[in-house]
Amino acid sequence: MPDQTLAEAQILTRELRDSLSPQQVIELILEGNARFASGRSTRRDWVAEQQGTAEEQFPAAVFLSCMDSRAPLTAICDMGIGHAFNCRIAGNAVNDDVLGSLEYATAAAGAKLVMVLGHSNCGAILSAIDNVHSGNMTILLARFQNAIEETEYAGERTSANPAFVDAVAHTHLRRTLWKIRERSLTLRELEAAGAIAMVAAIYDLESGRISLI
Ligand SMILES: [Zn+2]
Repeated sequence: MPDQTLAEAQILTRELRDSLSPQQVIELILEGNARFASGRSTRRDWVAEQQGTAEEQFPAAVFLSCMDSRAPLTAICDMGIGHAFNCRIAGNAVNDDVLGSLEYATAAAGAKLVMVLGHSNCGAILSAIDNVHSGNMTILLARFQNAIEETEYAGERTSANPAFVDAVAHTHLRRTLWKIRERSLTLRELEAAGAIAMVAAIYDLESGRISLI
């Protein structure tokens, strides 16, 4: 492990980023989240980070996460400017543009980790369970129907049951990771070569904690 962590590194240089293994990037993200959840987030000089990254960037990870206003990545993972790409879309769903973005972040820009990050009490999943039909939301919400059907859950299968909503979120995360591997030869090859890792995780709005699934 390098002496300097992501938190201490105001600016993530190519040298520092390239010295990290995919597993170390996962550990650093979880450590950053633990600092956030326990109220020990790093004091940052945002202007220095903005100026120090204006010319180039060497992010260590790319996240596919939900657009939920309560899950801003930089805050919940205690990261600085330039540390990670973040692809945000309601319900962290995959489409061709998202796949292209993940491939750019890794194959072209050198990120070591793809993390699909869902969260508890997700509005997109609630709406999909409620079978909402409205404009373009209908197309988006249709992406969750397979996850709803595949979720084995004996209790009340409604949006009023947070345990069922979170069970669907877990199924959806596993399916999303599977879809990424299925549909992206580039990412599959990078993962097989050990150049990147791909993981799914969930952020708990109540505790502020991220758990790998
Ligand atoms: Zn959400």
